[in-house]
Formats: sequence, structure tokens, C-alpha cells
Amino acid sequence: MASFSLHGFPVSRGIAVGRAHLLTPAALDVKHYLVGQTQVEAEVRRLQNAFAVVHQELRTIWEELPADAPAELGAFIDIHILILSDPMLAEEPLDIIRSRHYNAEWALVTQIDELIDQFNEIEDPYLRDRKADIWQVAERVLKVLTGTAQILPAPGDDDEAQARLIVVAHDISPADMLQFRNHAFSGIVTDVGGQNSHTALVARSLDIPAAVGLSNASLLIRQDDWLIIDGTTGVVMVNPSQMMLDEYRDTQAKIQRERKKLSKLKKTPTVTLDGTVVTLLANIELPEDCAAAMEVGANGIGLFRSEFLFMEHSGHASTLPSEEQQFDAYRRAVGAMKGRPVTIRTLDIGADKRLAGFEQSAINPALGLRAIRYCMAEPQLFLTQLRAILRASAFGPVKLLIPMLSHSFEVTQTLAMINQAKAQLIKAGQKFDADLQIGAMIEVPAAALTLPTFIRHLDFLSIGTNDLIQYTLAIDRSDHEVAHLYDPMHPAVLMLLAMTVAAAAKADIPVSICGGMAGDAKLTLLLLGMGFRELSMPAAQLLSVKQEVLGCDLERVTPLVRKILRSDDPAAIKQMISQLADATAVV
Ligand code: PEP
Ligand code: MG
Repeated sequence: MASFSLHGFPVSRGIAVGRAHLLTPAALDVKHYLVGQTQVEAEVRRLQNAFAVVHQELRTIWEELPADAPAELGAFIDIHILILSDPMLAEEPLDIIRSRHYNAEWALVTQIDELIDQFNEIEDPYLRDRKADIWQVAERVLKVLTGTAQILPAPGDDDEAQARLIVVAHDISPADMLQFRNHAFSGIVTDVGGQNSHTALVARSLDIPAAVGLSNASLLIRQDDWLIIDGTTGVVMVNPSQMMLDEYRDTQAKIQRERKKLSKLKKTPTVTLDGTVVTLLANIELPEDCAAAMEVGANGIGLFRSEFLFMEHSGHASTLPSEEQQFDAYRRAVGAMKGRPVTIRTLDIGADKRLAGFEQSAINPALGLRAIRYCMAEPQLFLTQLRAILRASAFGPVKLLIPMLSHSFEVTQTLAMINQAKAQLIKAGQKFDADLQIGAMIEVPAAALTLPTFIRHLDFLSIGTNDLIQYTLAIDRSDHEVAHLYDPMHPAVLMLLAMTVAAAAKADIPVSICGGMAGDAKLTLLLLGMGFRELSMPAAQLLSVKQEVLGCDLERVTPLVRKILRSDDPAAIKQMISQLADATAVV
């Protein structure tokens, strides 16, 4: 077995050691989770039942064929019945469920992929084309399965041994990443994607070691190869030597020990050495993430990326979450945070976050009908969401955050829509917090350069550095080919941050950062020295950021940061930022 390493971009820290599990695009289209030992036979029966239903369906179609139907039609159905009964299709997936504990849909597409690969190698074009028939039959079975799918319990302890799979795929959409929430993958490797793509952000919030942008990993890595992901460097080792495995397992244990040490800081108040209080908030994708935020002692939710609720419901307009479903999700988050504020960002769909079933025709989706622009184009959808958020505000502190604002008329139009939603609720006799705070995301350079527009009309600002960097440096954050140019320490980015924090301080309105820079512990001192006192990040990063805050002496750090901001030499800036740590105490 050849041993080699591949270099990509690190996404979330930690080391994963496991066997490769290759996912094809077809496999990504269905739910995949591992079933517990005790559920295996029930899952086998679920697949057998689906086969039986399709068998019956095909028989009925065959029997009801009109007398004058073309003869090929009968032959065609005969072929489908034959395919359905072939052990390669009817038996093999059952073995996959039993041996690998895959759910039925996943086991079926895994086998289909295998069969299609075999068919691709057949010379005879007639036989080669039969793969379309296999797909059609499989799709019928999948339809029955998904129609009758039951939610199985999350994997239990008996899945421990199988929790060592590392997913390898060409690409994984943010919506597909949602599927990985409830099961046991230990790492993720993709060919494409940048460090701050939304796929990467979900991996980070799941706290799974991941590396992206490895170009052709999915072609070079084979099913069941042993892999090590070093989530700090983005390096993936394929079929490593025993010595290397031992070394990385040691590092894994060391990281575990460090995490344990950090967990002691959960209840420690977040105060710098000189007594300045800093607020650390968590970013979430779904209400269930609040548990992790509470677990690390977050002061609240600084960013609830509400679009993930919509992606979870992906499909068609009729399956988008209703006002009641959204209200329920927002209220659950509010309840879970027990009186701590929950900042709900309105729908930020577009760019790399797509709703399945909705065609994206934009030539450049990152510059297209994204976020507030999309909401303005879909006023009913926006009003529905605004009402749901407002209603949740009757149950605890909620703040409303608007993404991707760049024009002042977008601010006034948004405020008018919020007032319209309030009026609708008053008319319907529904309660909400009349003083609900409304904030703007500063993530387009135009917004940072025209701050009075936002400060004048809104209650708070939150800087989305992921997009601010993308739009300032003209680098698509999901494109691995330009990922090396994505630089949070670029003088232009620092300048926009400094301008925003200064303008907010002058106007006495709160400003936070909720983009990736807030969760990067290497940048915490820089941000504190710039004047930021509120940072929002994935829960998994909160305690290492807290450790930096606790060791920070602002009186020493602030003048050094001023010097950094005066420099226009990128190399010197980077060096000075790394030296800031020398001005801190070890906690
Ligand atoms: C950002 O752009 O920094 C941000 C927080 O929003 P998102 O990453 O969801 O685009
Ligand atoms: Mg953004």
C-alpha cells in the first residue's frame, strides 16, 4: 500500500485517525448515518420492505399495461423486475447494513456506485447503457425508503468502533454537511473549498478535524485506506507507517489533555489582567447547537445562521420552514440559552449556501442575489421569517441581525419590513419585544466605509470578517485555488476593522466580530488591542480564546497594536502580531 501525504488547508484543529470512506455525489444525495447494533436487523427489514413495495408497484404497472401498449414497454418493465431481483442489488446492500451498519439508503447507493463503476468498464455500449435502468430501479426503492424513513436514534456506544471513518469527497455542500451532525465520522477531507467556506464552518462547529482544498484527494485515496488528518496544518497522510500512527496518536492524546485543562475555564469570568470585561458568544447553525454553547459557558449566541434551518428543509418552496416551524426553532434556542441573548441573523442564502430545488442562475453567486438582496426579492418569505423571530423575542432576549447590507436604502427598506411584520403581529394579537435590538452585519467594504448610515439607524454592529475579507481582497472564500491569498492580516482588512471599532466607540454603539477571526486564538490579542470587547465564534474555539483574554494585559498590548496598525508592511505586521503573545501572561 503506497504511503504518501497530501496538503490542503486546515479547517478545524485536532487529529483524526481512521479509515477512508469515499463519498460520491450520488451517495451525498441521501441521508447517511450509522445504525446501532440493536437496530441492524430492523434496518435490513426496512430495505427488504422497500424492495417488496417496488416489486409490487412494477407488477401492477405490468398487469395494467393497456393491450395496445408497445411491446418494448413490457420488456422494459421485465428488465426492471429482473434488476430488482438480482442479488447484486437485492442482497449486497443487506450485507453492507449488517457489516458496516449503514442506514438502508446509504447502503443502497454505496452498492449502486459499485455496480455503476463495473458497468462503466463494459465495452458493449448496449450493456453499458443498462446502468440507467439500474439507477431508475434504485431511485424507486429510494423513494419508498425516504417516504417511510424513520428517524433512528443517534449512534450509541456500540458504534464506537465504527466511529473511525474519515469522509473523503470531492466537495460537500453546507446542506450535506448538516447530515453529518448526528453520526460518527471522525474527520473530513475534500478536494475543493476554502478555510472559510460554509462547509468548513460547519465542520468547525461540529468540532471534527477537517482539511479542505486537497485538489484530487478523492481520486488518490482509496476506500478503506488508513488516513491521518492533521487539522492544524491541513496535511493528510495516506497509509502512514506504524511509527507515524503512534506519533499522531500521542499528539491526539496530548490535545485531549489540553482540552481537559481548558475545560476548567468554563466558569471563569472573562476578564483581562487589568480588569476589562470581554463578552464571548457562540455561533450556531441550529438550535441544538445551544447545548455546546452552554457547555463552554458562552455569554449568549452572537450569530444564529438561520439559513441552515432552510437548508435542512431543502427541497421545494412548499417544504421551506413555515412561520410556526421557524418560531419553534428560534424559541427553542432562546429557551436553551436561559436568559442569555440570542442574535438571530436573517436568511443569508446564496453564494455557497444554496437551497436545493432552487436554481441558482447567478453568474457569480457571491456577488449575486445573496442574503438581504434575496430577502428583498422575496418579501413574503422575509416577512414570514421576521414575524417568527419577533414572536420568539417574547420568550427571552433576542437580537435581530441583517446580513450583507451595503446600501443605505437597504437599511431603511429592511426597517420598514420589520415594522410591517410588527404591525401584522399586533393585528394578529401576537406578542413580541417592542424594543428588540436590530443590528447590521458589516461584511461588505462599502458598509465599513459608510458607517454613519448603519450607526444612525441601527442598535449594534457585528463584523462578518469571512465576507469582509472575501469582498475586500476579491477572493472567493470557497475557492481553494485562491485560498492562499485569503489573508485576515492584510493591512486593508485591519484598516476596515479599526475604522469600524473606532466609529462604533465614538457613537457609543456596541460592535462585535462574528466571523472566523473572532475564533482564532492567535488573533485574540490583536482584536482586544484594537478595542473589540465582544467576540462570537464556534463553541469549540471559545475556551482557547478565553485563555488568551485571561492572559492579556491591555496596557501593554494596546500600544503594540497601534504600532501594527500604523504599518503597511505585511511581513512586519504578521511578525508583530505573533510577538504580541510575549506581552501576555501564561494562564
Ligand atoms: C462572515 O461573513 O464573517 C459571517 C459571520 O457570516 P457567514 O460566514 O455566515 O457568511
Ligand atoms: Mg457573511
